[in-house]
Amino acid sequence: MSRSLKYTNADTKTIIAEKGLDRNGKYWRQQLEKISSTDVERALSEPIGTYSFEKLLALISPAAENYLEQMAQSAHQLTIRRFGPTIRLYAPLYLSNYCSNSCYYCGFNKENKSERTRLTIDQALEEANIIASEGFRDILLVSSEDRQFISVDYLVELAGKLRGKFASISIEIYQMSSSEYTQLFKAGIEGVTLYQETYDREAYKYYHPSGPKSDYDNRLETPENIAAAGMREVGLGVLLGLTDWRIETLALAEHAHYLIKRYWQSHVSFSFPRLRPALEVGSSQFRYLLSDKNLVQMITALRLCFADAGLVLSTRERAQLRDHLVKLGITKFSAGSKTNPGGYSGHNEAIKQFEIDDNRSPAQVAAMIKQQGFEPVWKDWDVAFIK
Ligand code: SF4
Repeated sequence: MSRSLKYTNADTKTIIAEKGLDRNGKYWRQQLEKISSTDVERALSEPIGTYSFEKLLALISPAAENYLEQMAQSAHQLTIRRFGPTIRLYAPLYLSNYCSNSCYYCGFNKENKSERTRLTIDQALEEANIIASEGFRDILLVSSEDRQFISVDYLVELAGKLRGKFASISIEIYQMSSSEYTQLFKAGIEGVTLYQETYDREAYKYYHPSGPKSDYDNRLETPENIAAAGMREVGLGVLLGLTDWRIETLALAEHAHYLIKRYWQSHVSFSFPRLRPALEVGSSQFRYLLSDKNLVQMITALRLCFADAGLVLSTRERAQLRDHLVKLGITKFSAGSKTNPGGYSGHNEAIKQFEIDDNRSPAQVAAMIKQQGFEPVWKDWDVAFIK
């Protein structure tokens, strides 16, 4: 089943294609069904926090669902050893919801006939001031694919103005070239999140029918541009609900492992965005939504394979589940999020990218983290120290 990978020559596309993770769902579903309790126990006896494809295959199999308690305890202990009892807090700042793509699952889909908004630099700063006043020092700039307005120059200027207030500035926007990422890195942006959405080529084509994002290979290769530009954090993820989460997890892990091997200076993190209702998008459209139990399985399996990876959970998830996940390996939470441009100041009622589920204030989320014996971290002291 396993083939050795030659990291010196291979690229991301080869890594994913070599095992058929972009097109061979049936084969991998059969392999997952064949995993036995013995295979799971063997995987759990391997060194904790290290990756092998076979180990992950066992941990995300249906058979491993009987070992969730053991996986959760190990994930908790490993996370405490590596990160201490801390949870980093961040807030997203949405800059624009004009988009040149038509992703079926998204409220910003260009086909949606609704009012659009994009923030000027001054309006973005007003939003950022509200976020800073809530205590955040870690901000994520989010935008749809609105290249003409949310340009590299716009982001460089905005980052320059945010640097005094925020210890960490990251982005989650459309894919860029290495030289564009380098410009952003020099401007003080240190992290980029870019989800592949799905590694399955057919599904990707279906969900991304038009626009620049419809190019699967370009999307797949972009995290390498991010790492090559020297970004400190590269965030990966798949949209949970588009296809079979188990096979997506295998592809996601191979992608991460490849980047970690090649770009040791970048820190890889995983996000777990489970699809949420949005304008013109109902939950019934997501055939592959995974259960809470399987979400826990995915999170703990990745932790047991990647000891140092950041694990990020947003306000897409409901409060009760987020409370539970504090102790299962998550290292970073968003809180008090608004998913529309101008949402914090409330000056306009632009459409949201999706509905959030945890509506608590940042202070309430921080209090919950403390109650569980963890320290909410508003500022990444490590970054502040390096700077
Ligand atoms: S997911 Fe991103 S690229 Fe796709 S429609 Fe939404 S904002 Fe645009």
